[in-house]
Amino acid sequence: MTDSELILTQLSAEGYQTSKTFEGADLVIVNTCGFIDDAVKESLDTIGEALAANGRVIVTGCLGAKAGDAGGNLVRQMHPSVLAVTGPHATQEVMDAVHANLPKPHDPFLDLIPNAFGSAGIKLTPRHYAYLKISEGCNHRCTFCIIPSMRGDLVSRSIGDVLSDAKALFEGGVKELLVISQDTSAYGVDVKYRTGFWDGKPVKTRMLELVQTLADIAEPYGAWVRLHYVYPYPSVDEIIPFMATGRVLPYLDVPLQHSHPDVLKRMKRPASGEKNLERIQRWREACPELVIRSTFIAGFPGETEEEFAHLLDFMREAQIDRAGCFAYSPVDGAVANDIPGMLPLELREERRARFMAVAEEVSANKLLKRVGSTMQVLVDSAPGLGKKGGVGRSYADAPEIDGIVRLLPPEKISKTLKVGEFTKARIVGTQGHDLVALPI
Ligand code: SF4
Repeated sequence: MTDSELILTQLSAEGYQTSKTFEGADLVIVNTCGFIDDAVKESLDTIGEALAANGRVIVTGCLGAKAGDAGGNLVRQMHPSVLAVTGPHATQEVMDAVHANLPKPHDPFLDLIPNAFGSAGIKLTPRHYAYLKISEGCNHRCTFCIIPSMRGDLVSRSIGDVLSDAKALFEGGVKELLVISQDTSAYGVDVKYRTGFWDGKPVKTRMLELVQTLADIAEPYGAWVRLHYVYPYPSVDEIIPFMATGRVLPYLDVPLQHSHPDVLKRMKRPASGEKNLERIQRWREACPELVIRSTFIAGFPGETEEEFAHLLDFMREAQIDRAGCFAYSPVDGAVANDIPGMLPLELREERRARFMAVAEEVSANKLLKRVGSTMQVLVDSAPGLGKKGGVGRSYADAPEIDGIVRLLPPEKISKTLKVGEFTKARIVGTQGHDLVALPI
């Protein structure tokens, strides 16, 4: 998402316009993913479709960095007629390829660009929420993951730039800022937590200082700050009391992947030696409102029934509010492919289903406990000013991955709902992963 946004920002800044169709464009830029086999296939298909419909195609993104079976570049092997291929985070290379094939239209007036957010650029998300990438790459080497081989080691963005982008986004109307990276808790490790500057004051390049300053910047705008991809390191403990004050949302997206120490070791997970259950329980004591989202892998190579049962027990005890689970699927080039004990697909799928049954039970019980309470809801959709109701999210729901709050038509005639604004709502019921609420 953010690579596309950077490219779009630059294209708009240079006066290029976007087209909704392949046929209507002078050339097509395809941003690809090469992480899992399905994504590779989808990306290659999209390149093929763009070539058939338009003929002038530039390819960027992770797949562009991938080698083919016989060496060389996979994209070029499959689609020799593409104009240019770049790897990920290659805005300048993409722009060079665009310039070589389609001259700049005219000098732009940056301030006149629609959907622009000053230094933070163009956003593809709805105007009221935005993703803020704080670093790129990762220092870990999880055995199932090929991101470090495609994106390299962790490189933190300067704290001053990150905070300036945040301010520009809030200025532009963003009400929810989603902090993302491959490893948010490691922010600043690569620069030894160097002290940078923002607004004339020194600020350390470190997660705690980042979160505190983001909360300060968000406050006058009444906006939310939500943290994604946080690993359960001891340093995260410092953030939890701050979450309890409500200045940053008491929501943590912690990709745990498993609970059993031996499986975590085989996965080479960050913080695999930490006692995650105890840590989560301490976090909940310090911040009872805390909502935890996580993802897990069922049927990792060598996973025994006992190890899997450990995961189910963990899920019940840790009471993970929002959990997703993948049946293990080998990724081309991943070290995990060489771990002995690959399980049959049916068993991996069966374990995933058993995990999801437990996860859904935990989640449904947690949602039921909210019935009768009043929550603040950010409105995502409200046709006709919400006279017939709408859709929103509470602090417990990140966009696109969690549940929603279905808003009923307000009882008060004078009450309206507007996209990108907050409303208070009384929770009156649940519907699967979602809540049903009455705006008040
Ligand atoms: S932490 Fe592990 S799974 Fe996440 S990007 Fe780094 S290597 Fe991949």
